[in-house]
Amino acid sequence: MLAPTPHFPSLRTSPRLLVRLGAAPADKEAAIREAAALLTAAGCIEAPYGESMLRREGVSNTYLGHGVVIPHGMVDDRHLVRESGLAVLQVPGGIAWHDGHIAHLIVAIAAQSDAHITVLRRLTRLIQDEDRLERLRSTASEAEIATALTEDSAAPASTGPATDLRQRFDWTVDYPTGLHARPASHWVETARACPARIQVRHGDQVADAKNLIALLQLGLRCGDEVTISAEGDDEAGALARICAAVTGLSAGEKAAAQRAAEAAAKAAAPVAGWNPSDRPQTLAGIGASPGLTIGPVHVLAAAEIVVPDAPEPLTSGADRLHRALAVTRGQLEALTDDTARRLGKADAGIISAQAELIADTDLITLACQLMVEGHGVAFAWNEAVERMADRLAALGNPVLAARAADLRDVGRRVLAQIDPALTSGHDLPDVPCILIAPDLAPSDTAGLDPTRVIGLATAQGGPTSHTAILARTLGIPAMVAGGPGLLAVENRTRAILDGTTGRLYLDPSEADIAAAEAWRTRQREQAEAEARERAKPAETRDGHRIAIGGNVNNPDQVPLALDQGAEGVGLMRTEFLFLERGDTPSEDDQYETYAAMLKALAGRPLIVRTLDIGGDKQVAHLHLPKEENPFLGVRGARLLLRRPDLMEPQLRALYRAAKDHVPADAPTGKDAPLSIMMPMITSVPEVLKLREICERIRGEVGAPPVPLGIMIEVPAAAIQADALARHCDFFSIGTNDLTQYALAIDRQNTDLAPEADSLHPAVLRLIHMTCEGAARHGRYVGVCGGIAGDPFGACLLAGLGVDELSMTPRDLPGVKARLRASDMAALKALALRACEQEDAASVRALDASLAPGA
Ligand code: PEP
Ligand code: MG
Repeated sequence: MLAPTPHFPSLRTSPRLLVRLGAAPADKEAAIREAAALLTAAGCIEAPYGESMLRREGVSNTYLGHGVVIPHGMVDDRHLVRESGLAVLQVPGGIAWHDGHIAHLIVAIAAQSDAHITVLRRLTRLIQDEDRLERLRSTASEAEIATALTEDSAAPASTGPATDLRQRFDWTVDYPTGLHARPASHWVETARACPARIQVRHGDQVADAKNLIALLQLGLRCGDEVTISAEGDDEAGALARICAAVTGLSAGEKAAAQRAAEAAAKAAAPVAGWNPSDRPQTLAGIGASPGLTIGPVHVLAAAEIVVPDAPEPLTSGADRLHRALAVTRGQLEALTDDTARRLGKADAGIISAQAELIADTDLITLACQLMVEGHGVAFAWNEAVERMADRLAALGNPVLAARAADLRDVGRRVLAQIDPALTSGHDLPDVPCILIAPDLAPSDTAGLDPTRVIGLATAQGGPTSHTAILARTLGIPAMVAGGPGLLAVENRTRAILDGTTGRLYLDPSEADIAAAEAWRTRQREQAEAEARERAKPAETRDGHRIAIGGNVNNPDQVPLALDQGAEGVGLMRTEFLFLERGDTPSEDDQYETYAAMLKALAGRPLIVRTLDIGGDKQVAHLHLPKEENPFLGVRGARLLLRRPDLMEPQLRALYRAAKDHVPADAPTGKDAPLSIMMPMITSVPEVLKLREICERIRGEVGAPPVPLGIMIEVPAAAIQADALARHCDFFSIGTNDLTQYALAIDRQNTDLAPEADSLHPAVLRLIHMTCEGAARHGRYVGVCGGIAGDPFGACLLAGLGVDELSMTPRDLPGVKARLRASDMAALKALALRACEQEDAASVRALDASLAPGA
């Protein structure tokens, strides 16, 4: 066997090239090891990168086409690459790869992402020249291979004609909203499970039923006639299965349309807040960012962008992809900087994480594989993004599902660079508008200019999504979960958007516009008045004071919370210390953070919640076992009790902070400068065990006593509050989770979001039981869930007997003002009435009776 020869080592954009002619590895694994050994010997990689290449092969297929394979390592192992390099094994006898493909040129890649795309660009050029590839399989010249990998060549690709396949049936689309993404993906799933080819024809247009994009491109509407046909292995079975899938969805699609119609009827019902008088057409969703705004709507192109498959020479296609990726990376860097300046580092992190996604070598490889198969670059890129995003979304993990949305978002940016025509929907009109979109990704929202976008309405999404949070930060009124009907609104229709009540009123009368403007002026004046008084305590007119805290996770945010009127921090979610970094913070790191919080608060109360990991808050680097129902699994205190390695350093850090930063004469009880709180408590034995551990660690550290409280988030804990109160110093009610568990509604579920109302009478009764149980043992009760920041919710909570409310700083002035304008006696009566109501809507209807001064 010949020794490898390095070529072109000096070109900065070219990786080192090592060629071994006449290789004859025994199998695929031996081939990868041999190529990895070349790269290791040349100093391009550290030896373990070879193992990483083998691991990659286990999870994806690196066969590019025409006998060329491109083994490469996993993204996480990129640090093992010292210098970009290529090791080419020429295997004249061929070697079996995935799916019966035979590989003759094994091009092992050790590269950072930029080099990876450069290599792929060259390979995709080469691959269209089959004669040349044939020669390379047996050439005795290393230079010929090296040259081929650095040169351009081109050959046009072609497409085939379209006709029906052997067996067929005709069907008239009876889905009221046509073939949209949800039913189409079910068709695709069914088709992919069949070995036969299946296609759908509408008129002259034909789509492969295994390809989602192609199906959506048909643009099928209710009433369209289609022919579905199959050919190949078990074609009759395939046709029967696809027929069952297609027709089986009809009832569900009709029911969904019916639900939409009912939602429209409900939307017309009056809401607590501003109501139009002239009954304009109304679309209802969920209020996500408060405020009333008036202007023309602008509908962004649907997420289901139809990307035409226009094959082109691989040379230019690969060049365009390369350029598009580079430009998008630059754009995202600029947007990250801009977001950091406008919204802060945490929000900017959302954008920079997206830039990582387009550096994914699997994604780039897949796009190139599709181009080699003959697809156009825009189509190939979009299809690669969709497939990867589908794979992420299909894993059933909410965190990965969010990554799928991010991937689609950033994928659209690249698509816009490949073909600007595919972005026309994103051009905003010159006049300020209310933006309507299927869903807005965080980067879209962060990039919005509040002078041009005066309101946001999305068909999907939930009130706790990043998009909703960013809209609130930007102060843009927003509504989410408005349903697909939103997308049918015509551009430039004049509308009133109420982000408080989650309503979009179309074509309102002049009288309604004038009334909305007057309401808005009053709201603005009221907000200004509330802000002026934000430093005053939340004391009712009859002299009952409610303690007010901010939900703050890090010391930098304390000054803003105090400025908004917080009297302390009622909830510090410490899991964010773990979620925001790639490793577990040490005891010393945690100590520094808690000490900094105590210093920033200068003696005001701080309630630190120990780690609440699990549910939707998954920490990748902890590698916790995957659970079917993570919200009902090892979460919060349950995890802490199973993982002393996580809990004990945290408790030691907290007690050390108490020892060093809480003065001996500091107040105790609810005014104590530091309290510790345990999340997701279900039972008394859990509390006893946790108390025992806390006491042991406090003794070891030599710290003073620190009040120990528990979160009431599980109905069992609320029902047994009296028993739990015996063993802890205070309660804080997590209404977000208490609502989810009491109503059996996953708090991430967009479909059920309108029903997951924390003011449901069942939740209020649980809160009432909690307050009664606590009172029996003289314990105080706080609420740190979202409803504490809703002025009406805050009034009900105070009436139910809650002593302290903790919320996002932005909500503080409004809640304090509302409580100051109320009488405790009236709030108690109101709370009891609320508990007697039959549903959440009736509770909310009581709001009118409690308007300031009522
Ligand atoms: C809650 O559940 O209301 C709460 C405050 O905890 P989190 O939102 O962090 O789960
Ligand atoms: Mg919770």
